[in-house]
Amino acid sequence: MKTQYHVIIVGSGIAGLSAAATLAGHGLDILIIDESGHTGGQLLRKTRLKPSYFPKFESDLMKSKGFDLVRTINKDPDIDCLFNAQVLGIFKERRLLVHIENIKTHGKQNSEKIFEVQAENLILATGAREKYLPFKGWTLPGVMSLGSAQILMKSYGVLPAHNTLIAGTSPLMMVLASEILGNRGKVIALLDENSMIKKLTFLPLIKNHWSKLLEGAFYTSRMFLNRVPMLQGYRVIQASGNKGFESAIMAKTTPQGDVIPGTEARFFAGALTVGYGFAPNLELPVQAGCNLEYQKNNGGWVVKVDETLESSCRSVYAAGEITGIAGAKKSFIQGKLTAMSILKKMDKINAGNRKKIFKDEVQRLLSLNRQQTEYASFLNHLCQVPTSAYAAIPDETMICRCEEITMGTIKKNIQQGFDTISSLKKATRCGMGRCQGRICGPVIFDIITALTQKNPGSIGCSLSRAPVKNVNIKAFLNS
Ligand SMILES: Cc1cc2nc3c(=O)[nH]c(=O)nc-3n(C[C@H](O)[C@H](O)[C@H](O)COP(=O)(O)OP(=O)(O)OC[C@H]3O[C@@H](n4cnc5c(N)ncnc54)[C@H](O)[C@@H]3O)c2cc1C
Repeated sequence: MKTQYHVIIVGSGIAGLSAAATLAGHGLDILIIDESGHTGGQLLRKTRLKPSYFPKFESDLMKSKGFDLVRTINKDPDIDCLFNAQVLGIFKERRLLVHIENIKTHGKQNSEKIFEVQAENLILATGAREKYLPFKGWTLPGVMSLGSAQILMKSYGVLPAHNTLIAGTSPLMMVLASEILGNRGKVIALLDENSMIKKLTFLPLIKNHWSKLLEGAFYTSRMFLNRVPMLQGYRVIQASGNKGFESAIMAKTTPQGDVIPGTEARFFAGALTVGYGFAPNLELPVQAGCNLEYQKNNGGWVVKVDETLESSCRSVYAAGEITGIAGAKKSFIQGKLTAMSILKKMDKINAGNRKKIFKDEVQRLLSLNRQQTEYASFLNHLCQVPTSAYAAIPDETMICRCEEITMGTIKKNIQQGFDTISSLKKATRCGMGRCQGRICGPVIFDIITALTQKNPGSIGCSLSRAPVKNVNIKAFLNS
């Protein structure tokens, strides 16, 4: 590995891969860093369990595209890849502090190390995390996010349970249900918080996105074929069990998001998976000093970029979910765009004819990128839970799991005037525990919005400092 690169890409999801593949072949030294042990981010996890049917059929075109990108990158000798490596911080002149696990030093395996590497250009493609709507019992073993259930199956080869209950607002619910069925698991029911009428009102937003509509139709038909009950307008209000999850109480909700008393029903299952959309992973851009902006239709706080996707920090670009939640296609387009901005800046497109082709391609990508904002709007409207749902969380419900802070404590502190993310954090320590607000951060933001009715942009975003990820002190001592 070198100590300096023309381009460093943080994140090997679709955005990072598409940037790297576009930069390949131009004589640039490129480094991809990812904290996970595989290439491809959240989308490209190779399943370990054997699918029981349609083994060769891939309904998601972006996945096939993604695997093509991985092959391109693997063939390029100018691209170095560093996996199981976390970027802990970004400092002046794009110097990155990196923590690497499982390296071999002095013949000893499993040691870890921290080192610095510098980028002439930096692309941040750090993706997104899932959002939650807490309820009584959401901390029980066996209650997990949709993405966690996917990781269990794909990375570890285990089903969440023999029979699983799926709930929330996220389109990922259908993807997960389909994956569980494909791996010989059973889905007890799919309970969607959105009513059919609400979903139909969002449909015009994706009238130009036929592939997404077809994908939705494909998953729905799979649910029908497998006789999975699909209930609309239901919310999980309680999960219970002795040592782990055993059953959930679900209730019908009004279009305004209030639970309708008397509609409660109990569902028994081995696991409960829930998902309420996504929020961008902003620790690194925030720590690096990139400006953010609040964009409700794009999933909340996002990195502010110009048309070349450069952030407010010079030569630091952002691509994919961190500039707005819109799914894999936008990540793919933006990865390519950031790479093209860098190629242009570095004067790598010189012959007259190539310049024209390059310019046309940039225009085409910019127009595709704009189209994706319609899909972003659809996706984020679909996943958004009415604010009243956050205001109605019972006082005894745990919100910050790491610091054990309940809704009651949060409510009391908001009433006392601690009504921004940073003041509430200082007053209660919420978001200061081991996960550093990765789980409760977006929830706390929604609770403050719901209880104060303030403009969400004035509530602020969680600040972060290096190291942005947990790291053993041993790693510093080894370095
Ligand atoms: C849990 C989860 C599951 C999902 N499953 C699906 C699915 O099945 N189908 C679907 O269409 N969409 C899914 N999505 C949505 C998906 O994120 C987007 O569709 C798209 O793939 C995002 O691509 P990206 O490159 O922007 O980000 P990602 O694919 O999220 O890639 C970001 C990468 O950055 C790395 N990273 C982050 N911070 C650091 C750091 N400090 N140091 C080093 N590396 C870092 C991460 O390890 C990750 O590999 C899922 C999202 C989540 C959060």
